[in-house]
Amino acid sequence: MGENACQESAYTVALRQYDSVADQLDVDPGIREMMRHPRFSVEVAFPVRMDDGTVKVFKGYRVIHNTARGPGKGGIRYHPDVTLDEVKALSMWMTWKSAVMGLPFGGAKGGVVCNPPELSEGEIERLTRRFTMEISDVIGPATDIPAPDVFTNPQVMAWIMDTYSTQKGCLSPGVVTGKPIPLGGSRGRTTATARGIVICIREAAKEFGLELGKLRVAVQGYGNVGSNVVSILHSYGCKVIGVADVVGGVYGEDGLDPKALTARLKETGSVEGTPGADSLSNAELLELDCDILVPAAIENQITAGNASRVKAKLIAEGANGPTTPEADEILSEKGVIVIPDVLANAGGVTVSYFEWVQNLMHYYWTEDEVHERLERIMTDSFAAVLNTAREKGTSLRAAAYNLAIMRVAEAMKLRGTYP
Ligand code: NAD
Repeated sequence: MGENACQESAYTVALRQYDSVADQLDVDPGIREMMRHPRFSVEVAFPVRMDDGTVKVFKGYRVIHNTARGPGKGGIRYHPDVTLDEVKALSMWMTWKSAVMGLPFGGAKGGVVCNPPELSEGEIERLTRRFTMEISDVIGPATDIPAPDVFTNPQVMAWIMDTYSTQKGCLSPGVVTGKPIPLGGSRGRTTATARGIVICIREAAKEFGLELGKLRVAVQGYGNVGSNVVSILHSYGCKVIGVADVVGGVYGEDGLDPKALTARLKETGSVEGTPGADSLSNAELLELDCDILVPAAIENQITAGNASRVKAKLIAEGANGPTTPEADEILSEKGVIVIPDVLANAGGVTVSYFEWVQNLMHYYWTEDEVHERLERIMTDSFAAVLNTAREKGTSLRAAAYNLAIMRVAEAMKLRGTYP
């Protein structure tokens, strides 16, 4: 964990990021103040019957930060460390992410304090159904649309959809995204976040004079995002020289083979010890001599403690919040280009948007159609952020926040104040 995690809450960091950009913008003071707060937060306590017959009480949250541009959108995480403060921060980041991408959504997030690895499938199903019931007046296809996050998956989304539809008395696939394909999930969702990251890397390479096929890349995290980034970049001819997960990492000067990494992961649960590769720690991975670094694991990895030793020319943030504000300043002084999370990893929420649209139309697209539409939105958003950074002379992160805050503020101004 970086220094921020110890000193500042996630919501304090989110406010600091917001204030630093909003202070420079010409935004009505009332609107500026409103964007600092979630529109509303729900905290629930609810009982779940456990497999041994006892009843356990769980705490859950759903926070809607802003709905000026459309319904709330954001995942539900199941984790022992979930707090209202964290959910509030994550909901605010979702508002900016939706706005940067030009999606007609606001920002929201939810969470339940629990530890899924210790729960049976039946307990997770009962917990999910009861939590859904508790927040069923908040969520809905036109009000707030959850999605998977840490320790929640397409099956959990299927249970949310079924519970909500049963309660409301009509099939409502648009109440959640990230569903299994037979229940209205979108083709192309699984690889969408990685595809978006690679599109950003490709556009940045063009812009900053790097040759895509010759890039040397390091990737932290080999889950959904990291493993797909590795295999797509490998197919473009890039050399992935380092990969690490929670257990450990591997290094190969001539490039690692994605098939060997995935085989090792399947066999042992980690990429550590992949045959033919040298071993590497997470700390070493982040400081590897490479062109591109993709942190795709957890938050607070690049901090004031290691930023000065980062050698990558470009960082594409796959994870949410992998770089602390202090590290950002150090990287900027060193001339390292950072493609911020709200842009780089927004391919996932973009295809979630496509899923919602397909659900509302009851008309489903081919995988190629999904890829083509994602390509268009990602390249347009990347160009808009880059142009803003150029115009204002700021980092890509400040430019993304600038665009997002101005778009949300404009929608709030047009809607006016009720009554
Ligand atoms: P995942 O659970 O599939 O994979 C996480 C990976 O990170 C695993 O390889 C795990 O071993 C590794 N990891 C966990 N803790 C680590 C640590 N302390 N040090 C090094 N490695 C560690 O998750 P994912 O879906 O790939 O998501 C990764 C990140 O991307 C998260 O921050 C998530 O919020 C973000 N993200 C994901 C999506 C998506 O569509 N999946 C969309 C936007 C953002």
